[in-house]
Amino acid sequence: MLGKIHSFQSMGTVDGPGVRFVVFMQGCPLRCAYCHNPDTWEFDTKETIYAQPEEVFAKIKRCRPYFGKKGGVTVSGGEVLLQAEFVTELFKLCKEENISTCLDTSGCILNEKVLKLLDVTDTVLLDIKMTDTESYKEYVGTTLEQVMSFLQVLENKKINTWIRQVIVPGFNDSQENISKLWELVKDFKCVKKIELLPFRKLCSDKYKALNIEFPFGKYSECSPERIEEMRSLLENYTNKKPNSTFK
Ligand code: SF4
Repeated sequence: MLGKIHSFQSMGTVDGPGVRFVVFMQGCPLRCAYCHNPDTWEFDTKETIYAQPEEVFAKIKRCRPYFGKKGGVTVSGGEVLLQAEFVTELFKLCKEENISTCLDTSGCILNEKVLKLLDVTDTVLLDIKMTDTESYKEYVGTTLEQVMSFLQVLENKKINTWIRQVIVPGFNDSQENISKLWELVKDFKCVKKIELLPFRKLCSDKYKALNIEFPFGKYSECSPERIEEMRSLLENYTNKKPNSTFK
């Protein structure tokens, strides 16, 4: 079975626990207004890498000495769930060799193939991109309800989950948004961490090259000071949770 892949990163440190080999899949059904990787949207481009799970696994195995106790493989995108069967095959190979598996996803697809993939997944990085349904419809292209249903499945399956949200100054860098995000996830035992990520515009050149409008190009990047302020706001909630495992 051929996977459609955008690129590989051999020593990722920001996509899940420890040092990880990251596979970025090609293809995404969403159109997030702040998307950093518009070049992953289409399945088949001139740059798409077509590979069998075994070929990708051979690359992962070469990096194994760097994984340590926590590291492993993360499959990101694009939207990884679009190619759930391919990633399931890849993760099965990893599990046979005790390599930890992680998905980075928007949670926008839930079907039998995705459920099978979750059975061989150790950690999920789940984006809660917006905290209300209207914004999800307008700026993402799916619904908050869909993503919360996905989170409920992770809870039922007891899969370690890290929630992620990009903070865009002037759009969602507010106490109200952080409070809503916390309200959405606070009762899920599977949620071990919440990461707030600063909005960046390094991708502007990609939009220009693709001749696509960058919808959030009008917003400023999130400064280190502002993201720290938002993280402090969030900590006011996470620190209050009894026996908190949040970091
Ligand atoms: S889900 Fe990810 S790849 Fe797809 S549009 Fe949103 S940010 Fe971009």
